[in-house]
Amino acid sequence: YAKKNGKNQYHFFNERLNLESKQFLLIKNELAEAIKNRELILHYQPKVSIKSGEVVGFEALVRWQHPQRGLLYPDEFLYVTAGNRLSFDLSEYVLKEVCHQINAWKERWPEFDKKISINISGEQFNNKNFTKSIMRIIEECGTKPEYLDFEIVEDALLKDIDRTIEVIKTFKNIGVTFSMDDFGTGYSSINYLKNLPVDILKIDKSFILDLFEGKNVEIVKMIIDTAKVFDLKVVAEGVENEKILKYLDSCGCDYYQGYYFSKPITVDEATNMLEKENSKN
Ligand code: C2E
Ligand code: MG
Ligand code: MG
Ligand code: MG
Repeated sequence: YAKKNGKNQYHFFNERLNLESKQFLLIKNELAEAIKNRELILHYQPKVSIKSGEVVGFEALVRWQHPQRGLLYPDEFLYVTAGNRLSFDLSEYVLKEVCHQINAWKERWPEFDKKISINISGEQFNNKNFTKSIMRIIEECGTKPEYLDFEIVEDALLKDIDRTIEVIKTFKNIGVTFSMDDFGTGYSSINYLKNLPVDILKIDKSFILDLFEGKNVEIVKMIIDTAKVFDLKVVAEGVENEKILKYLDSCGCDYYQGYYFSKPITVDEATNMLEKENSKN
């Protein structure tokens, strides 16, 4: 009996694996096509100054406008890009898209002065051709690098510290800024903050969403104080209500993002937001 049972379990396991890898391959192939067919779109989430209430920039977040399944979020498809060239195709696509958008906004409003943040995966950052390929795209698009901010998760920066510092400096020389994304979920070592020439620290939304639970109030205060020691600006992500915003303000947090101000919005909605702002001045 035991033997039979074991065999069944094996079959079950095997079939499930099979199904999972089939599903994986299906999505992967579909995504490759989707990139070619330009089915990926970007939503833009405003970054807001806590002091002035002004929108200082946007974070570009990728979505897949799937012809059958509707709008898909990164959680549903980004994982199939890991370890293969889709991660590069996708990131080049996103950067080009953002550069063109900056150019379009800049053309419409010559005084346009928002930063656009792009998420860079660890895989992309740690690729030896990272600097070259990104520089090439920025040049080809003719976009001023001062409009760009690269968001990188801290763990991705630690693989080869010397190279990381080198890469960051190369981009900072042309005006790109760097944000450490999801801060607090990785190593979060003081030593890294001391050595990495990043400009901005983004407190992970897990601390902000449940700000008034556990020790999060203290942790968030501590992160902001620590950032100040290193002259870093601080962004809080996942701000969903006024009470949280008030607390962040009292701690000296510089910027915030979150549903309280705005969810990530379409290009048209972002353009309308800029339009309204420009007609006020
Ligand atoms: P992230 O960079 O940490 O982005 C923040 C995520 O929090 C976004 O989810 C955003 O929609 C969500 N968010 C913002 N405000 C709130 C809020 O008030 N409440 C809640 N509950 N959530 C909020 P999204 O768009 O699903 O993106 C998930 C992750 O996918 C991103 O995390 C980023 O790591 C990755 N990602 C997105 N776009 C790209 C891309 O173009 N390239 C790469 N490599 N990764 C990307
Ligand atoms: Mg981000
Ligand atoms: Mg984040
Ligand atoms: Mg995240």
